[in-house]
Amino acid sequence: MAISLVWFRNDLRLADNPALAAGLESGSIVPVFVLDPAAKWGGASLWWLHHSLASLAKDCAARGAKLVLRRGDSAAIIAELARTLGAEAVHAGRAHEPWLRRVDRAVAEELAKRDIAFHRHRSALMFGGEQIVNKTGGVYGVYTPFSRACFEAFSARPAIAAPQRIGSIADVASDALDDWQLLPTRPDWSAGLAETWTPGEAGAHERLTAFLDADLDEYDRQRNLPGRSGTSMLSPHLHWGEIAIDAVWRATEAARTTRAEGRTTFLKELVWREFAAYLLWHNQDLDTVPMKAQFAAMPWRDAPGELRAWQRGRTGIPIVDAGMRQLWQTGWMHNRVRMITASFLVKHLLIPWQTGEAWFWDCLVDADVASNAASWQWVAGCGADAAPYFRIFNPVLQGLKFDPDGAYVRRFVPELANLPDEVIHAPWDAPQHVLRGAGVILGRTYPEPIVDLASGRDRALAALKEIGNSP
Ligand code: FAD
Repeated sequence: MAISLVWFRNDLRLADNPALAAGLESGSIVPVFVLDPAAKWGGASLWWLHHSLASLAKDCAARGAKLVLRRGDSAAIIAELARTLGAEAVHAGRAHEPWLRRVDRAVAEELAKRDIAFHRHRSALMFGGEQIVNKTGGVYGVYTPFSRACFEAFSARPAIAAPQRIGSIADVASDALDDWQLLPTRPDWSAGLAETWTPGEAGAHERLTAFLDADLDEYDRQRNLPGRSGTSMLSPHLHWGEIAIDAVWRATEAARTTRAEGRTTFLKELVWREFAAYLLWHNQDLDTVPMKAQFAAMPWRDAPGELRAWQRGRTGIPIVDAGMRQLWQTGWMHNRVRMITASFLVKHLLIPWQTGEAWFWDCLVDADVASNAASWQWVAGCGADAAPYFRIFNPVLQGLKFDPDGAYVRRFVPELANLPDEVIHAPWDAPQHVLRGAGVILGRTYPEPIVDLASGRDRALAALKEIGNSP
């Protein structure tokens, strides 16, 4: 019987997995995951990866197969494994991340030398990066027409059930997951992550069902309110491919809703993810090089103390601190607050967006090179479709608008919890007796703002003018 390797990457699932289905259709398979040093995952991602692999291995074992774990250079490992097993083919999901595309080129070369086929299947995304072109055959630079093209062209593929049985062929040597030491130990900072998440395919489906049942209807109204749990929190599950984009799309289309706006807005967010991957496909250095060239000359500041205050959630600006602490505690941050905290770093502090991108990369369980880089560039004003340069978020006004009852700030900045709603986003404006009554002493129990918001804004505008961004 024909044997093939099914090489799992960012598609850690059994259902709706076209690579797995194709392998099984042609005969027996050996499922394998390679921990390649070329993947520069951050700490939170490694925590997720450990648990997701444990879950996938369990799901494989329940079907009679062993998930083979190997560490090292993917090209050497995949080619050698395929050769020793006498495999006819290797099946994998298509990759869009630059490091995986490089790895794939090397793997394709090695397999070709041995006359072994390398099939890559659409898996993580709705389209291949080169598939969507504008009317003149060029690349879209703006979200809205790109999104329109996606909605016109996409139909989710029919469900592919998880196989009942995968079966086992000859025992193949595997590393032990624990030996990879992906989990943090000294110190173990992962308690908040474990409380918040259930990595793995089952957890992903539970999350989707809960969201569709409870939040889809009001998604468009609730998605900007960080104090409510109105978004899907599917991002890490989607990033690791524990649930297929097709499955999410299908279920959203089929969900019973009373308001079409909730569904449409949610599908559009999924297309934002697609747009980020598309930008990365066409700009392989998206995480380091600004799409607008003049931003290379931006007079960024080197301010390690302020950077550290931002990272630790001690800037003295409540909504910024709440967001940075949510990130640190849970490995995730609400989208509205990602925009506020990122804007504060690159505009009010004038610290390079790449520095913020790197911190998010290390801390986010959904760290995704496409979505992270595209979003940071968007906030900084140097990306595709970026906000106008003069739109500088005022974190106090953002807080008042999107966290009007201060629920979000109270949750993550408990030392401000007793302040009344009117001043919780700007405690420095509160009268002394109000601060005293709430047990707040600025500079002692909670920091004074590290920057005056008006001067920070003026400094950012001056810098943007300097590089030629004026009205
Ligand atoms: P929902 O509101 O439920 O949206 C559903 C899905 O759509 C998300 O799971 C996600 O896959 C996708 N999505 C939603 N908004 C966006 C967006 N603006 N861009 C791309 N995809 C989107 N998202 C990541 O997945 N990984 C990242 O590393 C990442 N870094 C970001 C950095 C910054 C500075 C900003 C402003 C945004 C970033 N985002 C990133 C996008 C967005 O914040 C998250 O996808 C979203 O908050 C995830 O929460 P959710 O699953 O509840 O989203």
